[in-house]
Amino acid sequence: MHKSEEKMMHSSDKGKIILLKMRNCGNCNSNLIGNHELEAKYISPMKNGSRIIEPVCRSCRAVVDRNDVEKDIMQTQRVVIISGTAGAGKSALGQFIEDKFDYVFIDGDAVSKKVNHMARIDPSYKNEEYLCHTETINTMLVTLGLGYNVVVGYVFDLADIENYRKALAKCGIIPFVRVLIPTRNVCIERDKERSCWTAGEEFVDKWFDSQLAIKNVHSDICVDNSFETIEETVTNHFEYFLV
Ligand SMILES: [Zn+2]
Repeated sequence: MHKSEEKMMHSSDKGKIILLKMRNCGNCNSNLIGNHELEAKYISPMKNGSRIIEPVCRSCRAVVDRNDVEKDIMQTQRVVIISGTAGAGKSALGQFIEDKFDYVFIDGDAVSKKVNHMARIDPSYKNEEYLCHTETINTMLVTLGLGYNVVVGYVFDLADIENYRKALAKCGIIPFVRVLIPTRNVCIERDKERSCWTAGEEFVDKWFDSQLAIKNVHSDICVDNSFETIEETVTNHFEYFLV
């Protein structure tokens, strides 16, 4: 059964028929529940295999508009936000959480690939860091609006995290935020060990200090996963929130 259908049934069991309203495609008015595709098919997936999430209506192929579904987000839905520099392990962790738990992984790197793609075909579409975050927040809200729990992986500074918190607060959701901070050497080794691509030391260093700086202010949300497998990281730091 589709996750959203399941959720709707649970909710109507409790008599909250209010959830049956809307969530229709703003373009063709067909019901989007069970009638959408999550993945952007016009951009090839990332080399690491992560998909570019861009929900479209299966009937008319229109991209799902946040305004058509945002009001259906429920505060019981869950959001995990994972930050970290290149090689910290956020994509592998996000993918693992999607595979093992009831979440959709939104990879910020894949969103930036989409933004780059858009900028190539439409010069008015500026490719800037803030736009990648705007786009990621939009994707997160649309995916939530379609009834999924989401895990978002990207490199965030404290101001970025605050923007995600604010966007989610409007829906009554408090995200679970964790910053992966393994040692620099571990980041470089993990980056090299990737089977299909390598960001390079330059990209480890680009964000390493800014991520480390978060530890000085909010050590409670920082995770040193230097000596953990992905399974251990999930068990030790995430599982109690995920299930
Ligand atoms: Zn449609």
